Amino acid sequence: MSSIVAIVGRPNVGKSTFFNRLIQRREAIVDSVSGVTRDRHYGKSDWNGRNFSVIDTGGYVVGSDDVFEAEIDKQVKLAIDEADAVIFMVDVESGVTSMDEAVADLLRRSNKPVLLAVNKVDNSKRLENAVEFYSLGLGEFYPIASTSGSGTGELLDALVEAL
Ligand code: GDP
Ligand code: MG
Repeated sequence: MSSIVAIVGRPNVGKSTFFNRLIQRREAIVDSVSGVTRDRHYGKSDWNGRNFSVIDTGGYVVGSDDVFEAEIDKQVKLAIDEADAVIFMVDVESGVTSMDEAVADLLRRSNKPVLLAVNKVDNSKRLENAVEFYSLGLGEFYPIASTSGSGTGELLDALVEAL
């Protein structure tokens, strides 16, 4: 059975954009509107000759903050259970949010490999800003731009190493 990789993170950080790039097919729904209900999408990918399945988590429903937190909590726990490795995606445009911190706490307590992907690093200024994500306590991070693919090779090298 091939390994399973889950992509988790807040809505709008770019998970589906990255997922679509990984699976090279327009399968997941990419939506710039925060709070649209989206399902989990599964796809197949490979890197350096290594095959794996990818889960794009979504399905977030914006209600009260409590409902929202509970939904993220559920998705992240599901991902931890299901996946062999987790890509935790955050957004350099918005910086560290309390929801990022909540997800990081859950992931730190799991014993699955976690790769922290700081997305939307479109330029060198944003690369400087990305250092704030060290505060999540997950160690090294991978600065990427899902739209251009910049930095994604390094992330995928580390991912297949971790599988
Ligand atoms: P998701 O909710 O986490 O699945 O996020 P989406 O993949 O739907 O992307 C949300 C928005 O972020 C879309 O408008 C994307 O085009 C945009 N986005 C994704 N990756 C990048 C990136 O690398 N740079 C920039 N500037 N925008 C991005
Ligand atoms: Mg999405």
